[in-house]
Amino acid sequence: QSYKSVALIVGVTGIVGSSLAETLQYPDTPGGPWKVYGVARRPHPTWLAKTHVEYIQCDVSNTEETKSKISPLTDITHIFYVSWVGNEDCSMNAVMFQNILSSVIPNARNLQHICLQTGTKHYIGLFETDTSDTHDSPYTEDLPRLKQPNFYHNLEDILYEETGKNGLTWSVHRPALIFGFSPCSLMNIVSTLSVYAAICKHENKPLVYPGTKASWHCFVDSADAELVAEHQIWAAVDPKAKNQVFNCTNGDLFKWKHIWKVLADQFGLEMVGYIEGNEQVSMAELMKDKDSVWDEIVKTNGLMPTKLKDIASFWFADIAFQCENVLSSMHKNRVHGFFGFRNTTTSFISCIHKMRAYKFIP
Ligand code: NAD
Repeated sequence: QSYKSVALIVGVTGIVGSSLAETLQYPDTPGGPWKVYGVARRPHPTWLAKTHVEYIQCDVSNTEETKSKISPLTDITHIFYVSWVGNEDCSMNAVMFQNILSSVIPNARNLQHICLQTGTKHYIGLFETDTSDTHDSPYTEDLPRLKQPNFYHNLEDILYEETGKNGLTWSVHRPALIFGFSPCSLMNIVSTLSVYAAICKHENKPLVYPGTKASWHCFVDSADAELVAEHQIWAAVDPKAKNQVFNCTNGDLFKWKHIWKVLADQFGLEMVGYIEGNEQVSMAELMKDKDSVWDEIVKTNGLMPTKLKDIASFWFADIAFQCENVLSSMHKNRVHGFFGFRNTTTSFISCIHKMRAYKFIP
């Protein structure tokens, strides 16, 4: 088969990486037909084998390994960088991205465009940083960088320098909280909440909301992983999107109190929700001894083998359930010609259904 474009997805097992792998294989995807290389740290997972990705297991924080495994891929035309090291360390995250660019740019003579995924932390600061110095929402792409270290700044600087030097185009994508189906994402809120609900069900407990009162009542925005994939593919091929930063959200809003009801229904649970007067209870703390409970759920339901620490990131839910008014504008996208959208409730349910179909959750 002859291909029009050749993608390198860095982080192919992740929440957006896996959706990119799926979307790029459809015959009507813009820029296609696509040949797809996918890089991740772990061995090729069986659930990803359904896509036509040429899988490369590589630790991209290792400069030598990255060079030896990625530089021979001389036909790459587009890079989709949807990875991070799993913590907010600026230099480690920068090394990973630089290793990829240093291995691809000198060797792939038809390379055209690099998509870099960052996120809303651009506007609110890192999880680890004091968040008193943040922008007021709704966030627009032209807001200046916060005056604090942020690995997104390091990644952007590398992107601007490398594309500038080499005559390539770029786009930066800042998705809101992502709803996706990957069981090995370092931050998947839907799998985390599904696992929490499955454990409540297993233990005959109601579904209590552990977050803050403000987070229960406020508006939130999110981005469906398939929409984020479409957004990046649009920017990769459409001239109107070149050399721009774009937010990415579903285009609607939700409240946790509404999604909580949907979650309870999906798992046949009594919904208790936020209990008036309660302080936030850490999910990471609540779930810290539940590894064997999850192993038992996996066994009794005949699920694909996963470990609790891989499929659920309760620390991330703790952060989501204390955020208030973290909302991004999609106006610039409309001006530049991206009109994609999703219904957030439908997105939430379809991620659960997809995880069930793959036997990741009961
Ligand atoms: P993810 O955690 O879902 O996936 C990370 C991918 O990178 C995996 O495929 C993993 O195997 C791979 N990876 C990690 N370290 C690697 C290494 N050393 N070598 C090779 N592969 C490696 O990723 P994500 O959540 O899409 O995060 C990407 C970016 O998006 C981050 O900057 C994150 O902050 C941002 N973001 C995430 C969310 C969310 O809800 N998950 C929301 C907004 C922004």
